[in-house]
Amino acid sequence: MIITLKKNAPQTEVERLHQMFEDEGLQVTLIKGVDFNVFGLVGDTSHLDERDIKANIWVENVQRVSAPYKLANRMFHPKDTIVDVAGVKVGGQEKITVIGGPCSVEGKEQICRIAQAVKEGGADMLRGGAYKPRTSPYAFQGLGYEGLMDLAAAGKMTGLPVVSEIMSADKIDEFEEYVDLVQIGARNMQNFDLLKAVGHIHKPVLLKRGMSATIEDWIMSAEYIMASGNPNVIFCERGIRTFEKYTRNTMDLAVVPILKERTHLPVIIDPSHATGDWKLIEPMALAAVAAGADGLIIEVHDEPEKAWSDGAQSLKPEKFAQLIEKAALVAAAVGRKL
Ligand code: PEP
Ligand code: MN
Repeated sequence: MIITLKKNAPQTEVERLHQMFEDEGLQVTLIKGVDFNVFGLVGDTSHLDERDIKANIWVENVQRVSAPYKLANRMFHPKDTIVDVAGVKVGGQEKITVIGGPCSVEGKEQICRIAQAVKEGGADMLRGGAYKPRTSPYAFQGLGYEGLMDLAAAGKMTGLPVVSEIMSADKIDEFEEYVDLVQIGARNMQNFDLLKAVGHIHKPVLLKRGMSATIEDWIMSAEYIMASGNPNVIFCERGIRTFEKYTRNTMDLAVVPILKERTHLPVIIDPSHATGDWKLIEPMALAAVAAGADGLIIEVHDEPEKAWSDGAQSLKPEKFAQLIEKAALVAAAVGRKL
């Protein structure tokens, strides 16, 4: 960290700051210039907040040299993390994981039928929402505990690990028992109590990007989970809010190489929520595989026109199977398999 002090900063204040940074365990170098004094801080500065330092009236500028995250940082963990989801390995250089299933669980019969279809199509995991974060309080809110039981039954029947979204920390025991990959939705990406709660469980976490979150905000949310004791975090890009109206969100595919350079965690793409339109899912999924994504999560429904949520962005099982066939060709072109 580089801290520039104002020209007229009193010597007593320069000495006080010098001592304060040393007391923080940092190696401090003071460069005395003609117009400014500059502190160079070496060591772990992740616990320092630039804005707090800037609150000092004698501080002209603060510049961070290293990232504010440690556990997620590739610099301290050069090897790719491979997250084991009930035997399915997510991340690494080989296999690309595909998760398919409806936006919402609508009952045991529905989820079992779609589970069977996505399995036949080539999915590695089954998704299904039981607690749904809906924009309108009048929209279907999910089947709750019953839905989670139906999803668990469908997972058991097909042998597919199951993914579902947790919305509040009081459901943590249910999720730890019945869900293989615990999803934090876009709307809860910065619900820090929830992040800490999933940081304490022994199940991997799928961390979706908040719709207005910067990449650094998102990595810091992963850091929250990891700092609470859970190293098994998978990033999921699901589109961000922009001025564009032709798509539901704007799919930010550059996150794949950026997150892979800066962190060691797997990155998957959700072209369903990122586009909001089933016709756009296949081209965007192929692009994600070409860009190096470790997986795809896709909404699938056998009667999209009757789906209780997100039918417009759900693929029919036949289209899902076709997508997997095409994506396997792209995967091969970039040295991976699907
Ligand atoms: C979902 O996966 O159905 C969902 C609500 O996702 P997001 O949090 O990305 O909107
Ligand atoms: Mn959905």
